[in-house]
Amino acid sequence: MSVIDTAKEAVMLVQKIDNIDLYKKILELQSDALKMVEENGKLHDRIRELETGLAIKDTLTFEDNHYFVVKNGTKDGPFCTLCWDNDRKLIRKHKDDHDWWWCLIHEKKRSYLQVF
Ligand SMILES: [Zn+2]
Repeated sequence: MSVIDTAKEAVMLVQKIDNIDLYKKILELQSDALKMVEENGKLHDRIRELETGLAIKDTLTFEDNHYFVVKNGTKDGPFCTLCWDNDRKLIRKHKDDHDWWWCLIHEKKRSYLQVF
């Protein structure tokens, strides 16, 4: 039985006793339990996110100003170093017609030197 189910059951039992102060305290307890369950869920999500980031970090190699994921004998990438270092996001770079690799998130406003 979860803490929420237990709290609901306690509320129902206290209603039968007909003690308004106790009933209010049990409702507060139920509300606090709900908040704790929500916070617990958020913490579990954050732990999962950090574990995923850590697992990715262990596979990253830096090469020619890019990151590559090297795992099980395969090499994937290149990925943007700035996106990973700042936001822990693996963003694939794209090669343009000039054979330059670009991150589509933060390097959209690139400009080329024009040679006359
Ligand atoms: Zn980027």
